[in-house]
Amino acid sequence: MSTNDKKRLVVLGAAESGVGAALLGKQQGWDVFVSDGGTIKEHFRKELEAAEVVFEEKQHTIDKILSADCVVKSPGISDKVSVVMKVREAGIEVCSEIEFGYRYKADSKIIAITGTNGKSTATSMTYHLLKEADYDVAMVGNIGYSFAKQIAHRPCEWYVMEVSSFQLDDIHTFRPDVAVILNITEDHLDRYDYKMENYIASKFRITENQTDKDYLILNYDDPNIKAYIGTHFIQSNTIFFTMSENNISNDGGTVNEEQMNIRFNGEQLNMSIHDLSVKGKHNQYNSMAAGISARVAGIRKDKIRESFASFNGLEHRLEFVAKIRGVEFINDSKATNVNSVWYALESMTKPTILILGGQDKGNDYNQIMDLVKEKVKAIVCMGLDNEPIHKAFDNVVESVVDTKNARDAVHAAYALAEKDEVVLLSPACASFDLFANYEDRGEQFKEAVKNL
Ligand code: ADP
Repeated sequence: MSTNDKKRLVVLGAAESGVGAALLGKQQGWDVFVSDGGTIKEHFRKELEAAEVVFEEKQHTIDKILSADCVVKSPGISDKVSVVMKVREAGIEVCSEIEFGYRYKADSKIIAITGTNGKSTATSMTYHLLKEADYDVAMVGNIGYSFAKQIAHRPCEWYVMEVSSFQLDDIHTFRPDVAVILNITEDHLDRYDYKMENYIASKFRITENQTDKDYLILNYDDPNIKAYIGTHFIQSNTIFFTMSENNISNDGGTVNEEQMNIRFNGEQLNMSIHDLSVKGKHNQYNSMAAGISARVAGIRKDKIRESFASFNGLEHRLEFVAKIRGVEFINDSKATNVNSVWYALESMTKPTILILGGQDKGNDYNQIMDLVKEKVKAIVCMGLDNEPIHKAFDNVVESVVDTKNARDAVHAAYALAEKDEVVLLSPACASFDLFANYEDRGEQFKEAVKNL
């Protein structure tokens, strides 16, 4: 306890979630201290100053931190960082921001969406379905405000929340009314002692506090999900979506002969996949998850059908950029792992020049080998170290060329492309070797295309 009798909240990391937790804590009467080991971005610093939150940057003053009753750790900070280890050794409670926010959510309802790929897309899709049905709803998490900041600024009746495994690692009571796991494929294993089972268990923590009043919506085609539920008891009501089973007699989602079917409480919603505004198999999975969530939330079938048609896809996810002399350019800069490239290639209907590369996270390119053989005419590498790509594809694809910036990559791809072909930026890698982040990579790609 601090001297002034207020409980002391220490927030580690002053980005969107940390600042959100700090603002909510301050509003709820905590004595708040924010500590960031790096430089705090200008707009976050202003938010803290405006709320009169005490903070430090470029350092962690240990005694100020160890006086906490509760520490909210930003999801980007690993458990291996020394300040976090000291906090844990001192036996101080560590919460993620969604856990802290949860304690002040009052009687609002939460749809929480996790998965390796598709979180942002499925979250914004689900939000769109609720918003169009005039629900009092906010989209929180990686897109929009953090959960805690939204509660501090404008509490809502519903929250559609994008949740990462890092946010789930430090929950204690967090209990979404509806939880969704879209898929679980290899990613971020450096944070999970390189053990896939730890990463899977972390994703499933989304359901650990759920009861039989809640719902867990799961991808039945995902082998990791299927294996986990085969060996673990789930308290909440499970609802599956699948493309491998033709018929569902229970509640759930299927895609069958180009029809998407969603069944909830015995009532069925059918619509053609051609009426979905976003394309690709992955988006059919996302749509089933969003559609089931919306039905659980009580939205009418015809409203859902209508809103699916008006949903705009997100920037940097299979985003159409331009068609120049018959060559189509697509920006999928958000594809930072091999699985998302698989879905990008799966949805290509024309010969493709694929721009790949960046910071490789130990990628296994065999996963996309068949699709590359079938659809990819040439590969343009865009990264500092393109060795893994050459190793995987030099004997498979006729030309594999090297570039080190977006402009050169676009020029090289355009030179290789013919009319009625596609240039697809879907890198399978993180962007940090050459760009600030995936958005910067996507923007530079689009700029280079526009300057052709
Ligand atoms: P996340 O928020 O989980 O990173 P996004 O919606 O931002 O997911 O999409 C990340 C990448 O994965 C994009 O390239 C996108 O086209 C692709 N993607 C979207 N949904 C899925 C899905 N259900 N399965 C696999 N890949 C997907």
